[in-house]
Amino acid sequence: MMDKRLISIYLPFTHLMSLTLCPKCGAETKRLYKNVCRKCFLENFTLAVLPLVLHARICSRCNARFDRNKWRDEGDLEDIVIRTVEDELFVHEEADDVDIVMEPRELTPHLYKVKVEIDAMVEGEPLHQELVTEVRIIREACDRCSRMSGGYFEAILQIRAANRMVTPEEIDACKLICADMVEKLWKKGGRFAFITDCIDSKDGADIYLGSANAGRQICKAVVSEIGGTFSESPTLYGHKDGKDLYRITFSMRLPEFMPGDIILYKGSVIEIRNSGKNSKGIYLATGARFLVETEKLDGAIRIANRDDAVGAVLVAVEGDDIMVLDPTTYQTITLKKPMFFSSEAGDEIPVISTEQGLFALPEDSAHRL
Ligand SMILES: [Zn+2]
Ligand SMILES: [Zn+2]
Repeated sequence: MMDKRLISIYLPFTHLMSLTLCPKCGAETKRLYKNVCRKCFLENFTLAVLPLVLHARICSRCNARFDRNKWRDEGDLEDIVIRTVEDELFVHEEADDVDIVMEPRELTPHLYKVKVEIDAMVEGEPLHQELVTEVRIIREACDRCSRMSGGYFEAILQIRAANRMVTPEEIDACKLICADMVEKLWKKGGRFAFITDCIDSKDGADIYLGSANAGRQICKAVVSEIGGTFSESPTLYGHKDGKDLYRITFSMRLPEFMPGDIILYKGSVIEIRNSGKNSKGIYLATGARFLVETEKLDGAIRIANRDDAVGAVLVAVEGDDIMVLDPTTYQTITLKKPMFFSSEAGDEIPVISTEQGLFALPEDSAHRL
């Protein structure tokens, strides 16, 4: 506030700056705010409103919040309290540069007191307002948690292998892919992406899932990481609101032959490098590439694995041929030079001994198919 002396000194000048009268209260004013003086303007202007009591519906198990007809994950309890206030706080639309500070205070596990301070510019004037509200916490079970605790499932994922048993390592690998995918889908908002149950059987494993989409995504991930194929078949299990409800069984078939397996197929010895819808590999006798639809591999048999390879001394390299010392007979034999071969005479190279003879294996890093 100016003191009286200053006002009397400057009065002539302020008169020159044209003082106007407030049409509402009659006071003299330098400028009008929405056609009235500052005092009259502020009497009728409310910067922000907030109900005195708010309610937040929260899942007592996972802290999800029920908001706009949906359960969502919105962080810890304090974040939810702040979000609840934000959703109900109304700030006047003519306010600019709005700055809101909230101070939530836990009174009991069911009750928060929140102090809200709002600073903003209105009609070029800085305004400040303080509000207080209480947020009452209502705890219940969310859609996800109630389905999980009720043993709900929408899909069964059956992990099997074609013409063989699934190994415990493969079951572990599939379970890991399953857990990762469920976590990923949940974080993206897939509320029913969860594992209900996991049952090992003698020929594989059955995984029960809360959502059919999760089952499909897991199968796709298994195919891309391990190989194999899958099919799905729905079974009607009930009706709800006039709609048929289906459960889907996903039959995941891991490939009969895995990368590193050495097979005999139509008289040729082949190292398998990749197994999916197609099987890819290398003919060990010629180094040529092998490619066939996996389901046409019927009749192929696994005769060895890259892990069975032994070391043999390379005697010489001549053009497309190499000479190695047979590790069992100690005779020098001539073999076809594998693709991507960089060893020199004197080196030890991996060879595999089969009923069809001795074969040099291509370098393991040569996954260039
Ligand atoms: Zn006035
Ligand atoms: Zn929950």
